Amino acid sequence: PFEGLTGRLQDAFSGLRKKGKVTEADVKDVMREVRLALLEADVNYKVVRNFVKTVREKSLGEEVLGSLNGGQQVVKIVNDELTELMGGEQEKIIFAEPGQGPTVYMMTGLQGAGKTTTAGKLANYLRKYEKKKPMMVAADIYRPAAIDQLQTVGRDLDIPVFSMGDQVSPVEIAKRGLDEAKAENRDVVIIDTAGRLHIDETLMDELEDVKAAVNPHEIFLVVDAMTGQDAVNVADSFNERLNITSVILTKLDGDTRGGAALSIRSVTNKPIKFTGTGEKLDALEPFYPDRMANRILGMGDILTLIERAQQEVDEERAEEMAAKMRENRYDFNDFIEQMDQMQNMGPLEDIIKMIPGMNNLPGMDQFEVDPKDMAHMKAIVMSMTEEERQNPDILSQKRRRRIAKGSARDIAEVNRLIKQFKQSKDMMSKMSNGKMGGMEKMLGK
Ligand code: GDP
Ligand code: MG
Repeated sequence: PFEGLTGRLQDAFSGLRKKGKVTEADVKDVMREVRLALLEADVNYKVVRNFVKTVREKSLGEEVLGSLNGGQQVVKIVNDELTELMGGEQEKIIFAEPGQGPTVYMMTGLQGAGKTTTAGKLANYLRKYEKKKPMMVAADIYRPAAIDQLQTVGRDLDIPVFSMGDQVSPVEIAKRGLDEAKAENRDVVIIDTAGRLHIDETLMDELEDVKAAVNPHEIFLVVDAMTGQDAVNVADSFNERLNITSVILTKLDGDTRGGAALSIRSVTNKPIKFTGTGEKLDALEPFYPDRMANRILGMGDILTLIERAQQEVDEERAEEMAAKMRENRYDFNDFIEQMDQMQNMGPLEDIIKMIPGMNNLPGMDQFEVDPKDMAHMKAIVMSMTEEERQNPDILSQKRRRRIAKGSARDIAEVNRLIKQFKQSKDMMSKMSNGKMGGMEKMLGK
């Protein structure tokens, strides 16, 4: 997301970064650009005004104007203030005190914001990373097939869904759902509620009643980031009536301009705790204001990248793999395993953009990895015998022709893959044995 905003901010800073001494006029110029960039990204105008004022004041301080790398100082101030704007420190989700459970969460928001999907993502996340036993409750009795939708999500995840059909009031469903969770020993209850296309009184009354009936530990407001300014107004109204506890920003994988992400915290004074980054049920990430600020400024997000890799990679296997690379024993089986891991981490083009500096490369915004290419490579390896996978050196022309036939690929493609494999194997072994301490150092071991 935020490609437009990132590009404009980088343009604004490009001259400044290299500057030694910065003058008052330089700061003024750059802040004019920043202001326009933020307004264009649909950030609330009051938020923009305050932001620009703060950054300007701090940038005109003695330290910056007097310093030798004033340009970089200004960029740092912008980075720090963007972080503050999005809440500063990361805020954790709230759970019931031990012995006082179950924890109760209510999903609220407009129709189509992503409540039902996010209920499933959250249940999945809590089971995987917090070792919880969640249950979901279908309390949207209005939208046709809303109950079915939640049940399907529950089946996909193998997480129970409580429902009573659409003839019982949401308040009653929520209460009975909570009882059921207690009886079944589930420690988190996630209540999916109805939305409307626009805020209306009946809906708000009903949500207030559900809140009063189950006393949730968190009321999550689910907000579609693509809706920009509107999202912020919606958040404001929901907050006024329900006193929400946190925000979850969905659809951050799309072509959003960034306005909602940057305004919602300071307008509602409620923290963003998660972002939705895709339609799949594992596309939910905890929100870190500092990392998001880095991403917006095009500085990459190496921490999220490492964490994602760690989630996918089994520690012991990673050690083993590193040893294989070092000792030049890396083979086609390892190659396939790593390719699968990469694919589990999300779209490759997203991953690459998290590497600092990659966002600035020319043509990067158009960069795409064709999943078909990955599939083709895999097909070729799958057509090799076990012996060939372990000893690529025995891959004679005859064998290569057989593999090409078996995988329905061109012989040229097979040759290319084998050549690339050998080159990267060579490089890996050199890196692993290099004087820097190689891969282990890179991976922070
Ligand atoms: P609800 O009406 O608030 O319950 O919204 P739904 O959960 O039914 O979601 C509406 C649509 O948004 C569905 O097609 C979801 O797949 C999609 N959606 C939800 N979250 C995300 C997200 O983070 N990224 C993307 N790309 N789509 C999402
Ligand atoms: Mg729904």
